Amino acid sequence: MRREEKQVQEEVGAVGPVHIVVAHEEDQGFSLDEEALERLLLREELCDLGVVVVSVAGAFRKGKSFLLDFLLRYMYNQVRLGFTCKPEWALPVNQVRLGFTCKPGALDFTCTTSSWMGGPEEPLTGFTWRGGCERETTGIQAWGQLFLVDKPDGTKVAVVLMDTQGAFDSQSTVRDCATLFALSTMVSSVQVYNLSHNVQEDDLQHLQLFTEYGRLAMEQTYEKPFQRLMFLIRDWSYPYEHPYGLEGGRSFLEKRLQVKQQQHEELQTVRRHIHSCFSSVSCFLLPHPGLRVATNPAFDGRLTDIDEDFKKELFCLVPTLLAPENLVVKEIGGVKLTCRDLLHYFKAYMKIYQG
Ligand code: GDP
Ligand code: MG
Repeated sequence: MRREEKQVQEEVGAVGPVHIVVAHEEDQGFSLDEEALERLLLREELCDLGVVVVSVAGAFRKGKSFLLDFLLRYMYNQVRLGFTCKPEWALPVNQVRLGFTCKPGALDFTCTTSSWMGGPEEPLTGFTWRGGCERETTGIQAWGQLFLVDKPDGTKVAVVLMDTQGAFDSQSTVRDCATLFALSTMVSSVQVYNLSHNVQEDDLQHLQLFTEYGRLAMEQTYEKPFQRLMFLIRDWSYPYEHPYGLEGGRSFLEKRLQVKQQQHEELQTVRRHIHSCFSSVSCFLLPHPGLRVATNPAFDGRLTDIDEDFKKELFCLVPTLLAPENLVVKEIGGVKLTCRDLLHYFKAYMKIYQG
């Protein structure tokens, strides 16, 4: 194992995900771990910086943690942590490797996999395989460390990575999940809505439900209450109709969210609603990662076991979300938030739902 691989692993292993919002199954309530959130957001050197919140949300067992682990790898390999200057393996941000284009086919993927993606045999760590067995808890987890990034415009921002999960499977959980997803959408700069295979009509209805919950909870009415939404479609199997990646995602989503005259009123409303809530909506189509990832219990996340097509698209997806020039500071009502402001909003929104 290369020296830098080992260091990244140690770095990731030393921190870990933190449960900041936990859903209680017994009484269907929620609680916010204020102390954990304060420890995260009130670090002296970070608390007054603009905060960027990237959240991945969706049902269990759909590859969210797997994706988040790659987001972590990107951050740990590209970015200085906090204010401690990292050793030589941390590349200066904005360096060459971020400057690629994401056109399908135009990527020289193989010669760059050794960059942020890690070594071919390196097991994946972070949100997923920590401690061996992951409990399926409904709630919001954040990575236990913020990342400090210098943006190309000279500003410094602090990046929070969040994992929101729940299942809309029984009537009693629908309300809870809507609340939870609403909360994470309200506090994030980018909400990645992680879905399998396609965008089904009930995925859109759930999205409508939780954005409505969110809109209602916000004190003022803003023209666009939420920031960015990305539909992330896993195991996309129609690349001949809409190619993998952002461009295919755009054409697919345009079609899927089209409002048509002959559509049922309800279907039209859902579509209008989604466009009206977010300042931007995008979609990314990811191929199936291969059978070893999906079915082999011994799979530990190493790159050699993942299909090339998937890695190639992942290589575009992650910087689309996290490259310094793509990071957007969380805004509410047009005002940019600092880490400290975010803590305030988290608490205030939580109160509304508990009240
Ligand atoms: P989470 O519950 O949404 O966080 O899902 P995990 O990240 O724990 O992944 C659940 C299972 O799906 C694991 O066995 C992963 O190896 C596998 N997996 C990860 N990404 C994908 C994907 O894009 N497609 C498929 N079919 N399986 C995936
Ligand atoms: Mg998970």
